Amino acid sequence: MRAHEAGALHGDLGYRGPAWLRTPEDVNALVPHLWPRTVRRTGNGSLEIGGVAIEDLAAEYGTPAYFLDEEDLRGRCRDFVSAFAGADVYYAGKSFLCKAVVRVIEEEGLFLDVCSGGELAVALKAGFPPERIGFHGNNKSVSELSRALDAGVGRIVVDSFDEISRLTEMSRKRNKRPSVLVRVTVGVEAHTHEFIATAHEDQKFGFSLAGGAAFQAATKILDEGVLDLRGLHSHIGSQIFDTSGFEVAAKRVLELQAQIRDARGVELAELDLGGGFGIAYTTQDDPSSPGDLAKRINKIVESECEINSLRVPRLSIEPGRAIVGPAVFTLYEVGTVKDVDGIRTYVSVDGGMSDNIRTALYDASYSATVAGRRSVAEPMLARVVGKHCESGDIVVKDEFLPADVQPGDLLAVPGTGAYCRSMASNYNHVPRPPVVAVRDGASRVIVRRETEDDLLALDVG
Ligand SMILES: *Cc1c(COP(=O)(O)O)cnc(C)c1O
Repeated sequence: MRAHEAGALHGDLGYRGPAWLRTPEDVNALVPHLWPRTVRRTGNGSLEIGGVAIEDLAAEYGTPAYFLDEEDLRGRCRDFVSAFAGADVYYAGKSFLCKAVVRVIEEEGLFLDVCSGGELAVALKAGFPPERIGFHGNNKSVSELSRALDAGVGRIVVDSFDEISRLTEMSRKRNKRPSVLVRVTVGVEAHTHEFIATAHEDQKFGFSLAGGAAFQAATKILDEGVLDLRGLHSHIGSQIFDTSGFEVAAKRVLELQAQIRDARGVELAELDLGGGFGIAYTTQDDPSSPGDLAKRINKIVESECEINSLRVPRLSIEPGRAIVGPAVFTLYEVGTVKDVDGIRTYVSVDGGMSDNIRTALYDASYSATVAGRRSVAEPMLARVVGKHCESGDIVVKDEFLPADVQPGDLLAVPGTGAYCRSMASNYNHVPRPPVVAVRDGASRVIVRRETEDDLLALDVG
């Protein structure tokens, strides 16, 4: 089947434009906002990152592997810190955490969110200042809370009445007064271009605003006087492109802030509006810059404060994906190319749902390009799949690849810095890939490749 016929056939998949609009040059082109800043196609047609040729990286580290553009990561940190000057930028560690990234986050002046004992351990091991750590989670264990208290983390975001009692008791015994925020569920669920605002929220996180639980949580903490209530927290979703959801969230949470002031005479000093800022996974995505986000969010907060006669609290935000997502691509090697009954071409790579579960889990869209050469072949609509024993093992649902893609080709998938390595599994006992940082012509492993010995080390039967 010719490429343009494939495009017509799959026009009903909601795919981005018919194949005949694509030229071989389009398929080789790197759309800038999809790729880490230092990635380019060199004269011989192959990619380079941080000044290092992809074929050298593949030869040295093997595939699959995640390549992190350190300059890009630092650039995104700086963009957020300078755009949100006057606010605290917490990097959401769950998106991807390892010691090297923790050090970058620290050097660039960000704060750090963790949501488990393991994430806290990585942060502390890397020497991150505990007073700049925020601790999240709807079910932090007693031992996790003890470690947080002993380490002196900067703030704990409390999420249930059970936790308030537990943490109050623990703090009393230790004679400590940890800073806390109350996580409020405001009835706004935002995703990409849409948000849903409801009165009630049916989810496990936080205290409901509508039901009065959030107000009760704040007053309980104030009454007991053991925990230091610094402010309210709201996180409305992820991969959000439109700030209207933040507007509704800020309005609701600041109304609660005013209600607390009216009832108790206390004006909370801080406000955390969470993370969730969207990034580009395909050419269809057009995210806002940190500068635009900051302008809109600051304006929203200022106007809601004015309406409620509140002093503007110190703002914090918690980007994860928007910091690390675009800084990384995954490099695979193509193993097989299969044309299935003229319906679709399946390009199988040497990783899959074990290194990127987002396609299977969230129906996420990704892009891909042949990374080791420039092709002059016609574009062909392909599906990039992994090597796992599972038909949902899809890496890239639909992408135009050159029709001459073949076994041995290197294939790069951008936008895999967030929620890929951090959600990676050992499914099928496939060892998890390494993360390699590249900068100024040099590369180094920051998370090594798992080995079969690593897998067997746990298997003590
Ligand atoms: C996941 C999460 C974030 C980060 O979300 P991104 O989409 O990666 O920006 C921030 N805050 C909280 C509370 C979260 O749960």
